[in-house]
Amino acid sequence: MVKNINEIYKQLGIDDEVLKYAEERLKGLRERFAGIDETAEYNQLKVLKALQECRVSDACFSASSGYGYNDLGRDTLEEVYSKIFNTEDALVRPQITCGTHALNVALSSNLRPGDELLSPVGKPYDTLEEVIGIRPSRGSLKEYGVSYSQVDLKPDGSFDYENIKKAVNDRTGLVTIQRSKGYQTRPTLSVESIGELISFIKGIKNDVICMVDNCYGEFVERIEPSDVGADMVVGSLIKNPGGGLAPVGGYIAGKKECIENAAYRLTSPGLGKEVGASLNVIQSFYQGLFLAPTVTASALKGAIFAAAILEGLGFKVHPDADTKRHDIIQAVTLGSAEAVISFCKGIQAAAPVDSHVTPEPWAMPGYDSDVIMAAGAFVSGSSIELSADGPIKEPYNVYFQGGLTFPHAKFGIIKAVQQLKDDGIIKLS
Ligand SMILES: *Cc1c(COP(=O)(O)O)cnc(C)c1O
Repeated sequence: MVKNINEIYKQLGIDDEVLKYAEERLKGLRERFAGIDETAEYNQLKVLKALQECRVSDACFSASSGYGYNDLGRDTLEEVYSKIFNTEDALVRPQITCGTHALNVALSSNLRPGDELLSPVGKPYDTLEEVIGIRPSRGSLKEYGVSYSQVDLKPDGSFDYENIKKAVNDRTGLVTIQRSKGYQTRPTLSVESIGELISFIKGIKNDVICMVDNCYGEFVERIEPSDVGADMVVGSLIKNPGGGLAPVGGYIAGKKECIENAAYRLTSPGLGKEVGASLNVIQSFYQGLFLAPTVTASALKGAIFAAAILEGLGFKVHPDADTKRHDIIQAVTLGSAEAVISFCKGIQAAAPVDSHVTPEPWAMPGYDSDVIMAAGAFVSGSSIELSADGPIKEPYNVYFQGGLTFPHAKFGIIKAVQQLKDDGIIKLS
């Protein structure tokens, strides 16, 4: 018996009109998807080569406990990461609780009282405002005597070189560059443009540490910011590099001295990288990393498909469907709180876990407005899994990301469109 695909979509609540519209939009994307598959192929081989060169074996998957001295799996994985990111060293740990924590460790360990931190790419990710002390917060860098300065991108999204040059001074100890747009509608930076910015900054002050917040960017391109001069790249394992399998964790890859500083801060002065048991999670770190290039490709296709579909419905999308991608986030300006809530309901209803629950906006630590999050994930809060979130404030953007497989990302977007239609927010004909 031939099974009809429309039939199973219908059983899952998608009507013919929505499905027909979605399939039409998808037709135009095949060529772009082929390019994404090629990047995934390149990165798959890059990861494989690193695993082979580091002689990863069964012994690397054993759990360690207690102090975690001589943890072969942990030490080898850190070597694998440094090969992939083309760095001298790396710190990849389940004790790093999330991306914000990884960034906090990298920043607070490589800055000293009296130093200044510079962001030449505008406002950093919301949670970093409290790390830095832009919003007063206990334990912030500001409390420890680290000042902050910021140069915004120009209105067209390009670097404001003139003001960046003025902002770099004797005290500038570290420059933080966020690759992804985060909760903003500015363009995401390409690795190439990050390289140009780093060259410019090093040309003014050679010994300044250039750190890149690499969240959501890993494996989207064939090169990473550490290939073009970044001293440190930092990210979360419940985003791209964990491949959906890592249940927790973060990484920092970079110059030996930067990583040593970070390790002394993460554990303790004197102990550094030597301690930190990898517990029972190390195999999922390896296996997730192995899957990460194709998982990232699925998420990327989902983002482009979402852009194509929502653009066609008259919403403003960032970036638009034709733009070259440098991260997996798709921002859509939905224009009202009702539309943001409706979209997120649709994504939630498409999830493999908790599809029966209804997401509601609520106050989240680290964010300055209520946020609605749709995430029916196997790993709690994982945003490499299909997820959408939106701060309930002007201009009512929703940020959509993830999808461990493309068929699931596709279904999620279709379901969100169906929800918008059912709630009377859009009309298809
Ligand atoms: C997700 C993200 C972070 C913070 O990571 P968490 O794991 O949510 O703490 C920081 N910067 C950017 C650009 C991000 O996307």
